[in-house]
Amino acid sequence: MSVFPKVGLPWPQLEAELADMKENDYDWTSGRVAAYTYYRDAELLQVAQSAYMAYFQENLLGTRVFPSLAKIESDIVQMAREIFNAPHGDCSFTSGGTESIFLACFAARERAFARGFPRSEKPQIVCCETLHPAFNKAALFLGMEVVRTPMQDDFRASPALIESAITERTVMLAVSAPSYAQGVFDPVEAVAAIAQARNLWCHVDACIGGFLAPFLAEAGYPEPKFDLSVPGVTSLSADIHKYGMAAKGASLLVFGDSKDRDYTTFEFSAWPKSTYITKSFGGSRPAGSLAAAWAVMKHLGRNGYVENVRRIMQTREQLTEGICQIEGLEVLAPAELCMLTYRCVGPGLDTDALAEQMGKRGWYVGRNARPKSIHLALNTVHVKIVDDYLADLRDAVREVRDGRLVGTEDNHTY
Ligand SMILES: *Cc1c(COP(=O)(O)O)cnc(C)c1O
Repeated sequence: MSVFPKVGLPWPQLEAELADMKENDYDWTSGRVAAYTYYRDAELLQVAQSAYMAYFQENLLGTRVFPSLAKIESDIVQMAREIFNAPHGDCSFTSGGTESIFLACFAARERAFARGFPRSEKPQIVCCETLHPAFNKAALFLGMEVVRTPMQDDFRASPALIESAITERTVMLAVSAPSYAQGVFDPVEAVAAIAQARNLWCHVDACIGGFLAPFLAEAGYPEPKFDLSVPGVTSLSADIHKYGMAAKGASLLVFGDSKDRDYTTFEFSAWPKSTYITKSFGGSRPAGSLAAAWAVMKHLGRNGYVENVRRIMQTREQLTEGICQIEGLEVLAPAELCMLTYRCVGPGLDTDALAEQMGKRGWYVGRNARPKSIHLALNTVHVKIVDDYLADLRDAVREVRDGRLVGTEDNHTY
């Protein structure tokens, strides 16, 4: 039987089929997943969905046809300047962190070429091993190379190792604010200073933390310096479709100097239509994710994001306290934002076995390969699961210890 129907099927039938297929998916509103999805409440979801639907069919490539989209985009750019301290900067709205990072690497490469970097050579990006794989993906597409230096004991980049890895071919230094695996901030100021002294592009990957970290101080927590106010920082990526809490397909690439954004311009006239110009990877682009991003950012406002980060920090503290009280478990320090990682250290306890036991209790369990540990990207949905999670964890630890269980799956794929 072919999958593509000869004769089209009625929507009610398809709707039922979709519901059937979804049956075995995790319910991300339940708080049993701490990855991939970010959920606050039904009210905010409604805002995002309504804004998305209002621009469901429009095309962000055609701002002359849809001038409202140009206005929405310019509002988002202005909000980005305000949030990330880039008063003279510019910003690209992109489809996600991967595209923001791709465009940052592209701009760094083009700027280097414009300054005389030989086109026959492979431009290098130097970073810590904790940097997101999207940089290697971008490097592969762009004919660049990523040099990863070892992380320090606290999982941060070492400015000294980064500096000593710089060569003639280095065009960009990149840091995480914070990293995805361990959730720690790289020393942004130190690395940016090295970049500035050597005239290199410095990118801050705030994809995961970009809509939490700027609100830490107001929420009553220490706020690391990581944004475009730090001397030497050239660009910063921040995902609206993560802790920005909007629909998927939304990220920001913010430039401290608007001239640097011009390096992402693609212009082409040698075809019959007319001049084609873009500053992003896509041609036709969804407008729904732009409208949803605008509506969610405006609806939450500064106070909404402050409240989000406060809830997340409190949840992490409660979970950390509970985990530390369970014998044989260790929380990996020093998580600084939304990430919580822990592992088994006690005798007769195996981290993989524990992960499997938590999985059997209905939790989606994220894992880190190095050091082997369980990983949670906590968001506002997790406020309500603290007691249930800890009760299941105590139970799972007991079961692993009593049964001398050892993990069978080596499931470290993210
Ligand atoms: C998610 C993430 C990315 C990649 O973003 P996508 O939206 O998944 O393309 C890059 N860096 C960090 C730190 C991330 O958390």
